[in-house]
Amino acid sequence: MQNLTSLLTANARLNFPIAIYFSLKPTGHSFSEMTSHPDFRSIERNYGEGLVRAAKLATPRVDDWNGAVRLPQHLELKPRLPRAFVPCRRLKEGLRVYSNGAVGACACRDFEGNSDLILGQTSDGLESLWAGEKLETLRSHWRHLNKVPTPCQSCRDYHY
Ligand code: SF4
Repeated sequence: MQNLTSLLTANARLNFPIAIYFSLKPTGHSFSEMTSHPDFRSIERNYGEGLVRAAKLATPRVDDWNGAVRLPQHLELKPRLPRAFVPCRRLKEGLRVYSNGAVGACACRDFEGNSDLILGQTSDGLESLWAGEKLETLRSHWRHLNKVPTPCQSCRDYHY
């Protein structure tokens, strides 16, 4: 909290040279409880209206990361959207590098880096993997055959 306050204070003093974004995770607190919390008030002083807007947009619908997180009762699971023939846009956003050198098309649900979203290793070269046949095949099989990679089949973070 102290570091965050220092960062926000310095940014405000310098007339906001960097953009800082907050995402608020839902808890059991109401909007008014959240916005009157001393930590919230302290951040808001140096951050401005955007924080209140983020609090208003906070939704009780959340992800459980394919069951990896157990949700308290007051939170609802995000709906699992149908994914017919439309590849997730994350397959076009960039590569994910794992600590063991594996490179994947998305790491959202592949926590161990051993699914069919893994394209190769860093030693294969990131540019070659990005432009390579394996990634293109993942996208085109999804688009033309609706063959959805295993981690994507139950993912609640699917974006099209
Ligand atoms: S559906 Fe989920 S796991 Fe698959 S690419 Fe999209 S965000 Fe990643």
